Amino acid sequence: MLLVDMLCLTHKVSDRLLCKWHIMNSRRLEEPMSQTAHFPCRTTAVQRSFALLSGIFTALLLGSCGGGDTAVKTSPLALAVKGVDACSAFGGTPTYNPQVRSPLAVLGFDLGSREVTHAQAGEFMAALAVDSRRVFVGTAGNSVAGKPLYYAIVGKESQVSAPGLEDLSRAIRQLMDPETTLAQGQALAASLPAVLWLGGNVHGNEESGADASLRVLYELAAREDCAAQRIRDNSVVVVLPIQNPDGRAAGTRRNAFGFDLNRDWFARTQPETDGKLELMRQYPPQLFIDAHEMGSKNFFFPPTADPTYHEVPDVTQSWVNRLFSPAISAEFDRQKIPYFHGAPYDLYAIEYGDSVSTVGFHAAGMTFEKHSGSTITQRTREHYLAMWASLYAGASDKQRLLTDWHQSHVAARDQGSQGVLEPNGLYFDGKRLYQQVANLQVRHYFFPADPTRARELAQLVRRLQRMDVKVMQLSAPLTVPDFRPYGGAQGAVTLPAGSYWVPMNQARKHWIQAMLHEQPYSPLSVSYDVSAWSNPLLLNVAGGSSSAALSPEAQVAAPVLELAPLGAPSGALRIGLFEMPGSTSSSESAGSVRHLFERVWGVAYTPVTVADIVSGLPGIDVLLVPDGYVNGGLQALGNKGQKALAAWVEAGGAMLATWAAPNSPWA
Ligand SMILES: [Zn+2]
Repeated sequence: MLLVDMLCLTHKVSDRLLCKWHIMNSRRLEEPMSQTAHFPCRTTAVQRSFALLSGIFTALLLGSCGGGDTAVKTSPLALAVKGVDACSAFGGTPTYNPQVRSPLAVLGFDLGSREVTHAQAGEFMAALAVDSRRVFVGTAGNSVAGKPLYYAIVGKESQVSAPGLEDLSRAIRQLMDPETTLAQGQALAASLPAVLWLGGNVHGNEESGADASLRVLYELAAREDCAAQRIRDNSVVVVLPIQNPDGRAAGTRRNAFGFDLNRDWFARTQPETDGKLELMRQYPPQLFIDAHEMGSKNFFFPPTADPTYHEVPDVTQSWVNRLFSPAISAEFDRQKIPYFHGAPYDLYAIEYGDSVSTVGFHAAGMTFEKHSGSTITQRTREHYLAMWASLYAGASDKQRLLTDWHQSHVAARDQGSQGVLEPNGLYFDGKRLYQQVANLQVRHYFFPADPTRARELAQLVRRLQRMDVKVMQLSAPLTVPDFRPYGGAQGAVTLPAGSYWVPMNQARKHWIQAMLHEQPYSPLSVSYDVSAWSNPLLLNVAGGSSSAALSPEAQVAAPVLELAPLGAPSGALRIGLFEMPGSTSSSESAGSVRHLFERVWGVAYTPVTVADIVSGLPGIDVLLVPDGYVNGGLQALGNKGQKALAAWVEAGGAMLATWAAPNSPWA
């Protein structure tokens, strides 16, 4: 039995009002960090008014928070759905339209009985689009190796027609605009479907999210029962089954350039990331599910562990904790599927699919993790159940989601106008807040032109613009009385005309702060991943912030176009690249060099094999050996290769290696 108690308290080390959600469940008591979770409550009068407008369900929850220790002895989801109708996510017997060919009919096997290949996924999606007007399929770009990034959009026929999708994109982006009034927002929330995303297989060797999302896609196309109909009637579901086609084909976590695509979302250096983010701008989500696999036996879904980044929009965590997560729990409890929340997956570094969709798009970004050692049948089934439960919950509450979503963007803009940064908070017991966010107002970021870093500055502006950040350019010099340069002391400066100006009073306030901050103010001293990711600091671009109330003379900056590769200088040396086999660091380092040469610098090079080295490296002036597993490299070379390499260097060949073992040919 699942009992849920909600009560509120003022956190000892934070001025944020926190809800405490005691989850009494024998299975979860085995997971130390999942026993008790703290969830943020809305605290401002403005936010409370939004919540009240969002309906009785939210008001009930806020009432329980405001009451201090009022207990709610039932699932919040049950409150929302109870009495609406007899339909439920998993009740009843699914009925199928025989006109829509099944996976068995198209592929010769059922989804979940074996892993689909990338080509089979494309074939099946194309067949669905032929058989069903509920399905639109497209390509969001190509992988490094040129494989299409297939996606599908499934929903009501009228919604997923070409004009229907155009209208949807326009209207959902209007709802994201803080200039849209409350009344307009409510009208849009009533008429529009929620936009719910399923992503799978961003790590190429974590396959089952793809197979599960294809099953969801098929069922939404073919099923005629009330559960499928409710999802279709109230949402459109964007399915991106294989985010990493090259990795799936090669059985590797990373893409063909050795990049971890779940660490690239904020920088979008890879074509797979860039393509899906452009699609996401077109159909911005209220829910983004990213289905992974991992080593633990039990299934993971949020709430996530501490630390959570302070600019995560509160409403997204409210949806996760009160709508989506309970919906999955209910079905997993019913089917006695073991699961856990919290450790070790956090929502701190703004680089993942879940955290970027959350901070960048105000979506409930949720990572799912299933044990990679389970059968494909089991992996597919559990991901499918978690996805279906989430979609049904989101569709059932779509008007509240969309109303909240609009108001979250309005609130972000208003925070930006005041220069307010969100406070830090901890969401689980047993930890101590490491630091609070500085008592600092940030109303603007500025980036003066710098001829020595022009390319990097252009890259920064392009990244911002392509996340719908409004970037301005000063049309007259501007005196900023309290300019805080990155790494420098505060003081008055006069910035020249042409400097870039990023005002915080816009819909993307949380994203701007997440990308341009000097200090991420980590709430804990440790995190799952990197501790800092500021774009200007990574790009070594000069700039800074200000809290002053300013009205600069400025115009919207022209869109920065894709930067062409720099190009190799004439008479360049002939470069050979040898990748030491046998380790992740080898493939990451060599892949990064290949990416730099091919896509950023435009420098020609030749991949070098052991046989080339044994043959004396004909036609190579400089041999590059990126970082990696040295013993793996030596073993691959063998005595013959090592001697040949030493002889080549002694004869005048130039070798650059980033790591050299003593007493080896690298030294
Ligand atoms: Zn993963």
